[in-house]
Amino acid sequence: MAETKEILEKARQAGYALGAFNAGNLELVQAIVQAAQARQAPLIIETSSGEAEFFGQENFLDVVANLRQGHGFPILTNFDHGPGLEECQRAIEDGYNLVHFDGSKLPYEENVKITKALVEEAHQKGILVEGEIDKILGKSEPHPNEDSESVQASGSYTDPEKAADFVSQTGVDILAVFVGNLHGTYRQPPKLDLERLNLIAQKLPCFLSLHGGSGLLAEEIQKAIKIGQIVKININTELRVVYKETLENVLKGSEEVAIYKIMPPVMAAVQKVVEEKIQVFGSGQKEG
Ligand SMILES: [Zn+2]
Repeated sequence: MAETKEILEKARQAGYALGAFNAGNLELVQAIVQAAQARQAPLIIETSSGEAEFFGQENFLDVVANLRQGHGFPILTNFDHGPGLEECQRAIEDGYNLVHFDGSKLPYEENVKITKALVEEAHQKGILVEGEIDKILGKSEPHPNEDSESVQASGSYTDPEKAADFVSQTGVDILAVFVGNLHGTYRQPPKLDLERLNLIAQKLPCFLSLHGGSGLLAEEIQKAIKIGQIVKININTELRVVYKETLENVLKGSEEVAIYKIMPPVMAAVQKVVEEKIQVFGSGQKEG
């Protein structure tokens, strides 16, 4: 497999983004890999610290290592929203390809210090680091009664100058920006501040990531990719919802008890969502 940086650089140059799909169990990983295979798409499979704990971090990495063998396209792993230095150090030791340290709740200087230390450690092993300075609001779940505009208004949009300072001080490879994108899905899809995203993209030498991909309209995502620096788009909520809803439907009125007969339709439904996202991100039929 090519180096992670080359894979992302190729996406940036060709104008597509890799989906970063959260997987909290084996079936989700398999469904995501099947989608990657069907679309010949490079992608990222990621675990939050909660998902990694449930799955077993080493189990997750071993499963992905097994499944990626023999494919002509890259499947990367990411530690999503790493909450602290220790968790991220463990992720580096265990061998994720990418590690996201979310220091957005820390005082700025503290965030800079930890991110910089992690970048130095990660780069020695060829691992890339994603940083975050402005919290991306919302939980990865449906928020049917919440108005995206009022949630956006309570956040602090990423300032291009401050972002440039953070990147130059830390040497971070990817910056998770807040330009109106929210975790979860809302009554109305959030609108992005594309003008701001454009200023950030012009100012920063690093890659950008777009969290909260589930709640955004396809055309909004495509406009953001077109600006040119976004190479990673996170998708979690939509996978969680389709998994749960399909499982409920499969079990409803069924006498089936064999798990290997219960799960295939659930996995197929997840695979379908991942394939749709690959289509939106333009990452299909790419060797990475
Ligand atoms: Zn996120």
